[in-house]
Amino acid sequence: MARVIPLTDARAAIPLAAAAPRVAPTGLLADSLGRSLRDLRVSVTDRCNFRCVYCMPKDVFGRDYPFLAHADLLTFEEIARLARLFNAHGVEKIRLTGGEPLLRRNLERLVEMLAAIGGLDLTLTTNGALLARKARELKAAGLNRVTVSLDAIDDGIFRAMNDADFPVAKVLEGIDAAADAGLAPIKINMVVKRGVNEREILPMARRFKGSGHVLRFIEYMDVGHTNGWRMDDVVPSAEVLRIVGAELPLEPVDPNYAGEVAERWRYADASGEIGVISSVTQAFCRDCTRARLSTEGKLYTCLFATQGSDLRGLLRNGSSDERISDTIAAIWLQRGDRYSEIRSEHTAALPKIEMSYIGG
Ligand code: SAM
Ligand code: SF4
Ligand code: SF4
Repeated sequence: MARVIPLTDARAAIPLAAAAPRVAPTGLLADSLGRSLRDLRVSVTDRCNFRCVYCMPKDVFGRDYPFLAHADLLTFEEIARLARLFNAHGVEKIRLTGGEPLLRRNLERLVEMLAAIGGLDLTLTTNGALLARKARELKAAGLNRVTVSLDAIDDGIFRAMNDADFPVAKVLEGIDAAADAGLAPIKINMVVKRGVNEREILPMARRFKGSGHVLRFIEYMDVGHTNGWRMDDVVPSAEVLRIVGAELPLEPVDPNYAGEVAERWRYADASGEIGVISSVTQAFCRDCTRARLSTEGKLYTCLFATQGSDLRGLLRNGSSDERISDTIAAIWLQRGDRYSEIRSEHTAALPKIEMSYIGG
């Protein structure tokens, strides 16, 4: 049962506007805009075997890029301890991400430790490269579902986007293995970048229509500061829906729950559904209940944050659960992030944290 933890010594570290903990209508801890803390994304590695042009461009993330040393990463024990404390504050869903989470050795052991907490919806976002090998053991360890990123069904376009010469066929193998293992319903994430893979919108829709998997089109975002994002590169979701709907008629579907990130649409012939994630053209900050834990244990309250709060220091200096819990509460209570609602050319140019580090 989630509880609101009173603030004690955390107040000394983080000044708060109000002395009493703020509570959302749900009875949970609420931030300064009344949003409760429900989801935690955990980046388990800042490394990746792809170099997607919109995420880890090769000219920045080259051979000499200073990735974190293993000792800097949160250990599985540290992640599990934090997960328990977040769970007590109301977090009911944890997504493992990165970087490429399947590059973290023995990840299934972490999944097992998180599953042992009980009552958590455990999911993972992956590029799919290692999924065929790992799907079964992840499921056995207690993972509920996976989201697989795939930006094109055309092999040449996909290889150009992942910039690691990785073939589509291997990702499709991973998706099949995940479905066989029961990690369903599987979501397929496609980031759409103008002039790069926009002509893949229809082929991707055709390929996954009737498959039981939910294809989600994501607007290209200005995360980090290395991908050279420009508004002109964004293909608005409205345009994606027009393109798909012109050939494959669509009907809107109600959200599964309040604050769902993807807007749902189903094929009029009942052969499945798709989603659109319109983080640029239709910001959804007002319902954002997500916190992010970076690879080295910093807590970020927004994907576009420029600063995080160090929890690893507390974990490693002998702080009590209560102290760490109070710190998490204090950080959430003063959260006022709504980056996507106030995005401009100016904010896009700010030195934001890279997605591979903060966790996508
Ligand atoms: N490596 C894993 C993968 O690619 O699925 C997990 C981490 S990745 C950062 C998480 C998600 O963020 C992926 O679906 C990816 O396509 C998406 N993403 C990365 N950069 C993005 C950007 N600039 N705009 C929109 N989505 C982005
Ligand atoms: Fe790696 Fe995922 Fe980023 Fe692509 S989107 S570079 S697969 S972390
Ligand atoms: Fe949440 Fe920040 Fe994205 Fe808004 S911009 S939806 S606050 S992560």
